[in-house]
Amino acid sequence: MDIEQQLNSVKESLPQEVQLIAVSKTKPDELILKAYEAGQRHFGENKVQELAGKYERLPKDICWHLIGHLQTNKVKYIAPFVHLIHAVDSVKLLKEIQKRAFQHDRQIGVLLQVHIAEEESKFGMSFNELRQMLTSASNGDYPNVAIAGIMAMATNTNDTQQIEQEFNTVNQEFISLQQQHPYLKTLSMGMSNDYTIAIACGSNMVRVGSAIFGARNYQ
Ligand SMILES: *Cc1c(COP(=O)(O)O)cnc(C)c1O
Repeated sequence: MDIEQQLNSVKESLPQEVQLIAVSKTKPDELILKAYEAGQRHFGENKVQELAGKYERLPKDICWHLIGHLQTNKVKYIAPFVHLIHAVDSVKLLKEIQKRAFQHDRQIGVLLQVHIAEEESKFGMSFNELRQMLTSASNGDYPNVAIAGIMAMATNTNDTQQIEQEFNTVNQEFISLQQQHPYLKTLSMGMSNDYTIAIACGSNMVRVGSAIFGARNYQ
């Protein structure tokens, strides 16, 4: 497998304003280094332990994204270095990120995860919950947290119309939220199978794994 070639073909398919997060979960360091040597600097992982280990071993100018669900008691392991946390979906988690970011005297970027997919999932908030969180965050309770935008995942289906509809719903909501909260800049939507649709629906950050690194044997 030629990582550089696959990385470049994904990059060529992206408009310039769309940021690529190379999702390297389950993949060994040497494959990540190949993408790194080909110029990729933003990588995404979904497990805290794996992320922390890779941070230790790999070049320090990599920007690490935690894209999966984050338990409150694990924030401390990534707080010293994480670039962007994609799946914040509770006040409790936001408070913990604030506390740890403050301890390390840094600002941590976060995205709020909205739940749109059909599947029952414990993760992600409704648009209402998200609005409430933004309103309460506006009063300066989280000085060390930079809420940069929204993250969403579509239903895992082959029905492209449904995916498109879901992404469009998020985008409309995102645009409306931006009017009240102009600091919201990032819309993280789209994975290997649906990033083209996501971009057409307004996404400006895609999280692409298997299209770059090949299929995974496990999650
Ligand atoms: C694994 C994962 C991805 C990437 O998935 P691919 O289908 O391999 O591109 C994107 N986002 C999240 C949240 C993931 O867990």
